[in-house]
Amino acid sequence: MANEWTIRGGTLLDADAGFRRADLHLAEGRIRQIAPHLAPSSPAPSAVEGSDLDAAGLTVAPGFIDIHCHSEFAAFVYPRAESKVLSGVTTDVSGNCGASPFPLVGEFRDCRRAEWRPYGLEMDWETAAEYFARAEAAPSSINRAVLAGHGAIRAAVVGYADRPTDARERQAMARLLDEALEAGAWGLSSGLIYPPGCYADTGELADLARRAAAAGGYYASHIRSEGDRLLEAVDEFLEIVRRAGVRGQLSHLKASGVANWPKMGEAIRRLRQARADGLPVTADAYPYLASMTDLDSLLLPNWAFEGGRDEELSRLADPAVRRRLADCHHARHPEPDYFDRIRVAAVSPDGPQTAVGKTLRQLADEAARDPLDAAFDLIVEHRTVVSATYFSMNEANLRAVLAEPYVAIGSDASLRRLPAEGDGGGNGLAHPRAYGTPARFLGTFVRDLGLTDWKEGIRRLTSLPADIVGLADRGRLREGAAADLVLFDPNAIADRATYERPARPPDGIRHVFVNGERVVADGRHTGATPGKLLRRGDL
Ligand SMILES: [Zn+2]
Repeated sequence: MANEWTIRGGTLLDADAGFRRADLHLAEGRIRQIAPHLAPSSPAPSAVEGSDLDAAGLTVAPGFIDIHCHSEFAAFVYPRAESKVLSGVTTDVSGNCGASPFPLVGEFRDCRRAEWRPYGLEMDWETAAEYFARAEAAPSSINRAVLAGHGAIRAAVVGYADRPTDARERQAMARLLDEALEAGAWGLSSGLIYPPGCYADTGELADLARRAAAAGGYYASHIRSEGDRLLEAVDEFLEIVRRAGVRGQLSHLKASGVANWPKMGEAIRRLRQARADGLPVTADAYPYLASMTDLDSLLLPNWAFEGGRDEELSRLADPAVRRRLADCHHARHPEPDYFDRIRVAAVSPDGPQTAVGKTLRQLADEAARDPLDAAFDLIVEHRTVVSATYFSMNEANLRAVLAEPYVAIGSDASLRRLPAEGDGGGNGLAHPRAYGTPARFLGTFVRDLGLTDWKEGIRRLTSLPADIVGLADRGRLREGAAADLVLFDPNAIADRATYERPARPPDGIRHVFVNGERVVADGRHTGATPGKLLRRGDL
């Protein structure tokens, strides 16, 4: 159905022009006109939905582009994408941290199937082209861009083997990456703490990143360490960017663990220096002090994952291996409050849910077990499907990161729905970043703390991520651009999601348009699904 809107009386805000008073006319999915005083629309013909929208008192900004997401499977299950659109996000960039939903074969596929089957998702694709075709046909309230994941590609070629790849295997990986880029992936992601991505050396990653660059794509990396070897990992990231000649995006920049907090200044200094030397590097961050990931990735060294899930589980069942893991772990984490900082966020839905929301210390006390043993028991019980929040960061570093002008704001979250009575809005307990990221950044860090001005704050959520990804017609208020808009009250915008109650949309986000159709009206989802699958190379 055609869809036309005239948005009158608001204050426009984008990174190009800052604040300006103007009206907007939207038609056929695009911003058709921007002018100080547009005439009210004539009564709409019956085949045309839409009309005038009075935006007095509201700020009209480009829809937020969430550059770091993990919605590649959830997008099929929760097409209304409430956690995103109710927080003003109109485009979701998924396939991050090496974990794209293609190629989907072998052990990698089996793990994803086991994780998502309880939510009714049948994965009937294998290749990137098949995934994109299915995603294109699926209804969605949000635009979706997807990266090709190095981990998925490596898994398809060498499984979960802890060894370097040979020339023939590298060729096979390059072909799979080329196929994904051809199908419309926006670049390559890596997740170098996760199996099997963690088994790759720098050369393997640089070779693949070079192919992404040749196709016009970028390289996004969850670097090899965010803690004990943070600075070495930053150096490796910069080395890959340099060798590949690729645009590099350092994912969720942070210093994790009390002992590593003092390293953040030096990490930032190295990124600034690289940029001053002309390297095209940027980063993203979420405005929270806790990370969230798989509990086994948090607790286990790389060798424990070798060979895949069954091997990992049999290691965890072996008391001798457990002792070795415990020695290794206690050497790395002597902090006395370590197990108080980790809280179980989600477990597989078909097992008992009693651990959700508890810290590892609480679980250990309840079971009269050592905390590490209690955690290993939980991982075994749920066949590795356990995620956890880890309160690993500090406020001073968070502010320092968010103040850097090359840092885009990304949630690092999968899209979710609004919770039904008694559930968390999807699988397990969310991290509040899933619902609160843009509002927390704008409300707390821009408005209340004045870390940046509004024009710069909006840039980090819109044109900066658009430029990093290469989304040429989004992220700016321009005639001819895609009509993705968020209308918010700058005095009221505030996150409401907490660790205890994460599935709460923010205050102050009033209306959201995706491709010219209204998906949020007065803070409520309209049910519209005008989102598109965005393929690199298309406009
Ligand atoms: Zn990550």
